[in-house]
Amino acid sequence: MPDTWVVVGLDNGGTCNNATVLDASGKFLVDRLVEIPSRVTEGPEIAVGALAEALEGVLALTGVERSRVRAVGLDTPGPASADGVISSKGATNFPQPAWWGFDVRTALEERLGLPVVYNNDGNAAALYAHHAHFGAEAAEHSSISAIVGTGLGGGVIEAGQVVRGAAGMAGELGHVHIPMEGLLAEGQPLPMCNCGFGADAESVASLTGIAANLLPYWLTRFPGHELAGVPILEAAKLVRSRGEDGDPLALKIFEQQAMALGRLFTIAANFTDPSAYFIGGGVVETGPKFREWFLDTVREHTVLREEQQRVASFALVPDLDMAGARGAAIAARDASAP
Ligand SMILES: [Zn+2]
Repeated sequence: MPDTWVVVGLDNGGTCNNATVLDASGKFLVDRLVEIPSRVTEGPEIAVGALAEALEGVLALTGVERSRVRAVGLDTPGPASADGVISSKGATNFPQPAWWGFDVRTALEERLGLPVVYNNDGNAAALYAHHAHFGAEAAEHSSISAIVGTGLGGGVIEAGQVVRGAAGMAGELGHVHIPMEGLLAEGQPLPMCNCGFGADAESVASLTGIAANLLPYWLTRFPGHELAGVPILEAAKLVRSRGEDGDPLALKIFEQQAMALGRLFTIAANFTDPSAYFIGGGVVETGPKFREWFLDTVREHTVLREEQQRVASFALVPDLDMAGARGAAIAARDASAP
């Protein structure tokens, strides 16, 4: 029967691989995290073996025969090319030189004997957010997803598909410059990003941005604050829980992050005019009150024209821990459609 095929989604991360199965009717056969160690620090050979194991594991768990697998979706952290070649300059998640310039998509395809479709993790999560939100109408809509983590990830979806760009580098939202006038407080230094840019979205809206830029400044404005006594990287991770408790310093930081995302979305509104704006990451994996305040603040700083306001929606990236694997599976399904 033609409708007995499935696709498998494999989400590769620094410590774990997460796997899912999507069937021909559009249903995910896994409703929770299915993780095994990714072993990426042991080099490509062993890590590709761990990905193959993740596939066999999720098939065993769901009772699906391997012969039904039509294609496999794979996502990894970047930087990597659009077809899954890890950057030759190295990548945080792939420390050994053996990874640099390594074609992980082809290696997995050869290992499995199945077609493998590649996306970076931000794009895969963006694709899932889009399909989860629009369902059967996904192909008629566009969206932008911003996911606040260590960096600022995400992606751009047009007509239900990932916008990859000529070199595979579209959707690098973190490194889009945003205006800082009215965002920075008096005397606050220009925030710098790891990429070398000053005043891009990630320099404010990321954990790295909190540690390097926002927290050091705001600690000078709140003398005697308890976080002043904590090492900066640790203190940066504590800012979220302080924000949920209503700490004024933490709220200043999150207000600046929400403004940065609003300004990024304003650029998107003028660039591709998407139907939906999604936000994900730790900052919205919080209590409903804080999360809604944050979303409202992003919306308040997203300048839309009246016509856009009538059609645009703002929402969260759902099931963030499973979004990569699910988005990878959707990409595999769409790319392998007969
Ligand atoms: Zn940057």
